[in-house]
Amino acid sequence: MRLANKVAIISGAASGMGAATARRFGKEGAKVVIADQLEGEGKIVAGEINNAGGTAVFMPLNVTDEAGWNKVVADTVAQFGRLDILVNNAGISGSAVNDLLESGIWERVMAVNSTGVFLGTAAAVRQMQKNGGGSIVNLSSISGVVGQTMVHMAYNASKGAVRTMTKSTAVQFGKDNIRCNSVHPGLMPPMRTSGATADPTVRAKMLRAVPLGRAGDVDEVANAILFLASDEASYVTGAELYVDGGYLAM
Ligand code: NAD
Repeated sequence: MRLANKVAIISGAASGMGAATARRFGKEGAKVVIADQLEGEGKIVAGEINNAGGTAVFMPLNVTDEAGWNKVVADTVAQFGRLDILVNNAGISGSAVNDLLESGIWERVMAVNSTGVFLGTAAAVRQMQKNGGGSIVNLSSISGVVGQTMVHMAYNASKGAVRTMTKSTAVQFGKDNIRCNSVHPGLMPPMRTSGATADPTVRAKMLRAVPLGRAGDVDEVANAILFLASDEASYVTGAELYVDGGYLAM
């Protein structure tokens, strides 16, 4: 198994790509902490992993809460003894807005998508330094590399911050045997918080810019996260992996 004896925290693992990654990690032998605000859904994902012979627990977390992050890391170490992997996956969309210049959404999106990743990284790095290293995988997006017409620029800015924070983490903590990489999904099943980008007409238009000619599947992102999280990527750090059907190659 590719993650045997590894302990992993995945934020936002009650839904979508985080849940797919949690299931995949469970199959590969990791002990998985599902850290999310959605308790009902998160417990269901943990139950599925346990019923399939894996090991998973749900822990409540709002990623904007520093004390909450410290508690999740402390509780993980208390239960499983160490922390090897953090997947900073929780996020909210910027496409459910009527006014692309509204300022309120800037604060909300940056708080969850950027500050949340920083706080998770800080809590995890402190623990990984104690246990001799680790791997952090951050969910950015194609939106962290280019601008888009129907998405509030807060989303692009927040995912751009994730992209460069990833490189800072790799550069600053490589000496502690901590790797950090970003994954950039393209057109995927809509997020719970998606607006315009969940509209079938808009999605059909976006598909025309995808060389593979189809949307991606959550398991295709989970595969990329698994590789970067695992020891197979032992010399990969500060890298960005596009899982976008070729969108950014156009
Ligand atoms: P999703 O909406 O299905 O899942 C997001 C999860 O994050 C949910 O379980 C939600 O409860 C959790 N979450 C949101 N805010 C939180 C908070 N403050 N504290 C704790 N948990 C919180 O979305 P998804 O499609 O699975 O997206 C996962 C990640 O991938 C996100 O970072 C997203 O920005 C990114 N992404 C998504 C797409 C896409 O098209 N779906 C494309 C590129 C990147």
